[in-house]
Amino acid sequence: MGYEAHKIRLIMELRKQGITDKQVLSAVERVPREMFVPEAMLSEAYENIPLPISQGQTISQPYIVAFMTQALELGGRDRVLEIGTGSGYQSAVLAQLCRRVCTVERYRTLLAQAEPRFVAMKLHNITTRLGDGGKGWPELAPFTRIIVTAAAPTMPSVLADQLDDGGVMVVPVGQSGAQTLIRVRRDSTGFHEETLLDVRFVPLVEGMPQSR
Ligand code: SAH
Repeated sequence: MGYEAHKIRLIMELRKQGITDKQVLSAVERVPREMFVPEAMLSEAYENIPLPISQGQTISQPYIVAFMTQALELGGRDRVLEIGTGSGYQSAVLAQLCRRVCTVERYRTLLAQAEPRFVAMKLHNITTRLGDGGKGWPELAPFTRIIVTAAAPTMPSVLADQLDDGGVMVVPVGQSGAQTLIRVRRDSTGFHEETLLDVRFVPLVEGMPQSR
């Protein structure tokens, strides 16, 4: 059986939860989430829940992916930095709506799984990097948008500094259990923060893992 009915149900649920941006809804509709979840969880690919991937990480709940994407206010010319590639699902959704996605992941094994998915989907506007995303991607900065998909303990100013004038960053900030999604806008007068939502993300970890 195909996933079409499950997908339609999910899109309806996202609309009910307040995802009103038609571009975002259609981006979610175009990305086959079944390509990004572990085989053992295929039957849950279109449930509105986070699912475990390898290295103790998670693919975010579709609602959160859609909410963060909507909060970024993307346009076709945007250059987006994503911290935490994970399964690559969020990157694939972003890639539908902007010019370029530059995504950083600290686990080699996760990148090695995400990259063939981008190739299979012919998403040639995604560039990946193995590294500590807490440092951003200085060689490619500034970015017009930044999305952090792991929770920073405090507002990551290193990343905010890589935002272009007029840029927007969406980032979960806080310790496990008590994180809030924050939107930061940069303009000529400085940085302006806005609290959006209570969330639960895996932590943004400093440095690189030992072997994987
Ligand atoms: N956007 C992902 C969500 C992955 S969960 C998706 O759609 O599937 C968060 C990811 O952030 C994990 O893969 C984790 O390894 C990664 N991460 C945590 N700290 C990091 C860091 N300092 N640099 C890069 N990636 C990091």
